Amino acid sequence: MISKVLIANRGEIALRVILACKELGLGTVAVHSEADRDALHVRYADEDVCIGPALAKQSYLSISSIIAAAEITGADAIHPGYGFLAENPHFAEIVGECQLTFIGPSPNAIRLMGDKAKARETAKAAGVPILPGSDGPVRTIEDALEVARTIGFPIILKASAGGGGRGMRICPDETTLQSAYETARSEAERAFGVADVYLEKYLQHPRHIEIQVFGDTHGRVVSLGERECSIQRRHQKLIEESPSPVVDQTIRQRMGDAAIKLCQAVSYVNAGTIEFLYQDGEFYFMEMNTRIQVEHPVTEEVTGIDLVKEQICVANGEPLSVPFGEFHLRGHAMEFRINAEDPVTFAPNPGKIREFHAPGGPGVRIDTAAYRDYVVPPHYDSLIAKLIIRGKDRPETIARARRALDSFVIEGVKTTIPLHRAILDDPRFVRGDFSTRFMEEFEF
Ligand code: ADP
Repeated sequence: MISKVLIANRGEIALRVILACKELGLGTVAVHSEADRDALHVRYADEDVCIGPALAKQSYLSISSIIAAAEITGADAIHPGYGFLAENPHFAEIVGECQLTFIGPSPNAIRLMGDKAKARETAKAAGVPILPGSDGPVRTIEDALEVARTIGFPIILKASAGGGGRGMRICPDETTLQSAYETARSEAERAFGVADVYLEKYLQHPRHIEIQVFGDTHGRVVSLGERECSIQRRHQKLIEESPSPVVDQTIRQRMGDAAIKLCQAVSYVNAGTIEFLYQDGEFYFMEMNTRIQVEHPVTEEVTGIDLVKEQICVANGEPLSVPFGEFHLRGHAMEFRINAEDPVTFAPNPGKIREFHAPGGPGVRIDTAAYRDYVVPPHYDSLIAKLIIRGKDRPETIARARRALDSFVIEGVKTTIPLHRAILDDPRFVRGDFSTRFMEEFEF
């Protein structure tokens, strides 16, 4: 039985996991870099261990330091959060070998889904729709051209080991593919250590819709509905919501069934997300994320399930607490990612937060590790808060989001708050009529 959890992460997600542990009566251990001494997750945890310098490679990505911290403090489980080591199969393996419980899926499932080209093949074999594209990585430019000619341009080149919106190239024609192929490979090699790239059909106006899945060690897998994540810039999500304005119960059921089939094919345990592209009534598998997502609160708000507590209980061998039978989402929820960055150029803007006042009132939840006088370090992700709004329907959620953003005060660093506020006044956003291209066309 888990009694003390080490959280191998920082920021709002570290705090989120600590809150879940507290509710379950479990002890908590925070690890932190030298740059995070004053971080809130350190103050909230029962114990804390400094695991190295600011550079993530020497702290939050240092497997040996994290394992040592668990051993010193007597933690018996590790929650990886998202990012850092969350999808590193080697880390999950070592955690297990050290007789610690990894709060997440098996190393095997992480490995299978971590290679996006392999994941595509696994999805195809499980009968989940995928976009036309290459079978595995393309080894030469000639191969790439041949596949592209067969499926037709435009195509998108993707790094097999890619993630975080990086390592993708859209190629509208043969000339672009010819010049993009080698650059994409060397970029992938530099960023992920593996040069492999694959290609698939590029959709012109898809929506990004993903399914939250959960499996337990008793063989049960459930789908907890969808999240609409089409509001993105540079392939990075900005606003997420559930339910999607275009998904009805029939599509939800179809997408959920496909997601469950894929999970069953890899004996998936714990929380995961299957990402799909959706266009003209059809959906196509894009990738699976084998961890808790940044946007998980949106699902929590419309299902009433605490996904992080559920992760810990499932890791403990308990059956899923999700009731059997037909499943419905209640009300509507949206999440706004508030980053310390310039809302126009998206350049990170770390520094000291001189004023911090978070909104409250009905339907408002804020997941953050920021506070007044907190210094946002330049070394990590620029996410400083997530504003999560819940309403009885989409219009009420939008009205609440507007008034919450209007009274959200963060001074000292530039944030994406004004951008979110402007998006909420966009008629297309309000109608729910948008695709992943929304931000390209949006004028701020
Ligand atoms: P990452 O793993 O880097 O997040 P994804 O494969 O999840 O990359 O894709 C991120 C985003 O890129 C998607 O949400 C979508 O906006 C865009 N995208 C990816 N594949 C396609 C495609 N075949 N056609 C159109 N857009 C795509």
